[in-house]
Amino acid sequence: AQLDTLDIIVLAALLLGTVAYFTKGTYWAVYGDPYGNSLQTSNGAAKAGKSRNIIEKMEESDKNCVVFYGSQTGTAEDYASRIAKEGHSRFGLNTMVADLEDYDYENLDKFPDDKLAVFVLATYGEGEPTDNAVEFYEFFGSEDITFSEGASAQDKPLSNLKYVAFGLGNNTYEHYNSMVRNVDGYLTKLGATRLGAAGEGDDGAGTMEEDFLAWKEPMWADVAEKMGLEEREAVYEAVFEVSEKPDMDADADEVYLGEPNKNHLEGTQKGPFNANNPFIAPIAESSELFNTKDRNCLHMEIDIAGSKLSYTTGDHIAVWPTNAGKEVDRFLTILGLASKRHTVIAVKGLDSTAKVPFPSPTTYDAAVRYHMEICAPISRQFVSILAQFAPNDDVKAEMVKLGSEKDYFHDKVADRNLNLAQLLEILSNNEPWEKIPFSLMIEGLLKIQPRYYSISSSSLVQKDKISVTAVVESVSKPGAPHVLKGVTTNYLLALKQKQHGDPNPDPNGLNYAITGPRNKYDGIHVPVHVRHSNFKLPSDPSKPIIMVGPGTGVAPFRAFVQERAAQAKAGQSVGKTVLFFGCRNKAEDFLYQHEWDQYKKDLGDNFVLHTAFSRDGPKKVYVQHQIEDNAEEVNKLLEEKAYFYVCGDAANMAREVNTLLSKIISKYRNVSETKGEEIVKAMRASNQYQEDVW
Ligand code: FAD
Repeated sequence: AQLDTLDIIVLAALLLGTVAYFTKGTYWAVYGDPYGNSLQTSNGAAKAGKSRNIIEKMEESDKNCVVFYGSQTGTAEDYASRIAKEGHSRFGLNTMVADLEDYDYENLDKFPDDKLAVFVLATYGEGEPTDNAVEFYEFFGSEDITFSEGASAQDKPLSNLKYVAFGLGNNTYEHYNSMVRNVDGYLTKLGATRLGAAGEGDDGAGTMEEDFLAWKEPMWADVAEKMGLEEREAVYEAVFEVSEKPDMDADADEVYLGEPNKNHLEGTQKGPFNANNPFIAPIAESSELFNTKDRNCLHMEIDIAGSKLSYTTGDHIAVWPTNAGKEVDRFLTILGLASKRHTVIAVKGLDSTAKVPFPSPTTYDAAVRYHMEICAPISRQFVSILAQFAPNDDVKAEMVKLGSEKDYFHDKVADRNLNLAQLLEILSNNEPWEKIPFSLMIEGLLKIQPRYYSISSSSLVQKDKISVTAVVESVSKPGAPHVLKGVTTNYLLALKQKQHGDPNPDPNGLNYAITGPRNKYDGIHVPVHVRHSNFKLPSDPSKPIIMVGPGTGVAPFRAFVQERAAQAKAGQSVGKTVLFFGCRNKAEDFLYQHEWDQYKKDLGDNFVLHTAFSRDGPKKVYVQHQIEDNAEEVNKLLEEKAYFYVCGDAANMAREVNTLLSKIISKYRNVSETKGEEIVKAMRASNQYQEDVW
C-alpha cells in the first residue's frame, strides 16, 4: 500500500461539490485516511467514497492519458509521474497518474480509442505483483476473465485500448520483469494495441534509470505518430500550488511538523498500525554488534507491546526514517529556503488527480526532513529539467550537458554518490538556486520510503519485542567529495548513541531531530510497521532446515534458531538445524557469536554452524565454499526434505548459492546439470527453497 492514496481526490470532490460515489463501498475508514487533513475531516469528508471507474474519472477531469503504477518502493510511482509530466509538457496530453489499487478493470473494454493507458509495473520478489497491484494482476490473470458487458477473452474485448508498458525488475531474480511481461501478454491477447516496445528496467544491473531513458524516446515517437500528436517546446507547469502562510504560526495545532497523519497530529496515536500509519515504538534496548571502530552493526529491540501489532518469525519490520539535519540544512540552504524553513506552507494539487505526498499545512523544514527522499541518487532526467532554473547561464549549460550526456553524468554525478543538494552546491559554488519552484522538488524527488529489516527474533520467544540487526551504511569513494551516509541506519545509530547517553551522540555531525515532531519521539522512539512475509519455518519443527545467511543475512536465521532452541527446550522434537554464516573475520564482525553457543546447548548436535571468514587468513572463505565442503551432507538433508533458506545479498551470493545447489544435486544424485537445475526450480516452486534477499 502506498502512503499517499485518496486525499486529494476527496479534497477535489469536496471543493467541486461532487456527490460521493460508492462503487465498492470504499470508505475512508476502510483504507485509512493517510493524512486526515483537518480541512477534509472537518467538512465531514471522512465518509466520502470515490469512484473506482477510471473511464468516468478521466471523463470528469478531462484527461486523455492515464498512467497506472504498480509500485512497492516508490520508484515505479516516480516513473509514472515522470511519464505523465512529459506526456503533458512535450505532447500536450492531458495526463493523470493512478494507483492500480484505486480502480476496477472490468470496464476497460469501454476505454475510448482516442485515449491512452500507460502501465508502469514493478515486479516484486519471486515474480510477484507489488502490494497495490495484486487485484489488478489477479483480474487479468484469471482464466475466465469477463468484462462489464459480459465480453470474454475470445471476443478480443480490449480492441479499443491503446497502451504503453514499462517494467521495473531485477535480473538477479528468476522471474525477471514478469509483471510487465505477463500483463503485456494478457493485454495483447485481449486485443489491445501496445504503442512502442514494452520497456524493461534492470535494477540488478544498476541500469534502471538509463533503461528507462533509452526506452522512452522511441516510445514517445510511436505514441506521437499513432495518436497524431505534435511535439511542442516543453514548458514547466507546476503540479502543486505551494502557498506560504506567513500569518500562521508553525506551532499551531493544525500544522503538521512531521506527524505522519491526523491521528499523530492530534497526539494520540491510534491503530491499526500499518503502511499508512506507523506505530511510534519505544526502542527497549540497543547495542553494537561489531568489534571494530570503522563499521557499525546495530542490534535493536523494538517494543510493540500494546500496539496490537503482531509478527511471526520471518516477517519484516519497516522503519520510517528521518533525514539527517545536516542534509536538511544543505537542501534548504541551496534552495534559498533556510531563512523561512519554519514558514507554514499549504500544498495542494493544481489538478484534481494530483496527490500531495505529505500532509498539509506543514513547514518547509518538516516536509524536507520527514517526507522527501533528499539523499537518494539523482535522476539524469531531473537534472535536465532543473537546468532551466539554474542561477546563471554557465551553470545552466553544465546542467544541460549533465542531463544529456550519459557518460559525463556518470563520471561527475552518479559515480561520486552525490545527492541533489550536494550537486547543486558544487555546480553553483554555493550560490542558492532560488528560481526552483518548491513544487518541482515535490514532483521530482521520491517521497521518503520506510526501509525494511528482516526481523531477527522469534515471535514464539518474544512476541512483543522485535529484534533488528542492521549494518550502518557508510560509503566512502575515492574522489567523492562526501561520505555517503545511509539515511535510516545512521538515524538508528544516532538513536542508539543517544540511548546510551553518548556525550557525542552524533559523531558524524549528522544532527538528527531525535525527539521527532513536537518531541513525540522523545524517550528513544522510532516509527515502525510490520510487513508479513512468506519466509517461514516449516510448521513441523522436526523437519530439517539449512540456512545460508552471510553478514546481516543472518538476521532471520537468528530468529529461526532462537525459535527452534526454545522448542527443543520445551521438549519438542526439533530436526537438524544447519546454518552457514560468513563475515570478514571472527574477531570483528562475527554476529551473535556467543548466542550460538547457547543455542548449541539447547539444540545439541542438531545445531550445526559452519562459518566462513573472508579476511581472517591467507585464503578468502565464503559461505559458498563452506556449502561445497559440506555438499554431501547438504544433499542428504535435502533428500530428507530439508527446507533450504537463503538471506542477504541478492546481487551475487543468492544467485551463486542457487547455481551451486543445482551442481551439488547433480553430482550427488548422479543426474545431469539440467536436471539439477530443474530440481532446484521445483524446490522453489514448492517453497522448499525460500529466499529473503535485498
Ligand atoms: P540508504 O540511504 O537507503 O542508502 C542505501 C544505498 O543506496 C547506499 O548504500 C548506496 O548504495 C545507495 N545510495 C543512496 N544514496 C545514494 C546516492 N546519493 N548516490 C549513489 N548511491 C546512493 N538491512 C540490514 O542491515 N539488515 C536486515 O535485516 C535487512 N533486511 C532487509 C529485508 C528486506 C526485505 C529488504 C528489502 C531490505 C533489507 N535490508 C536489511 C536493507 C535495508 O532495508 C536498507 O536498505 C539498508 O539498511 C540501507 O538503508 P539506509 O536508509 O541506511 O540507506
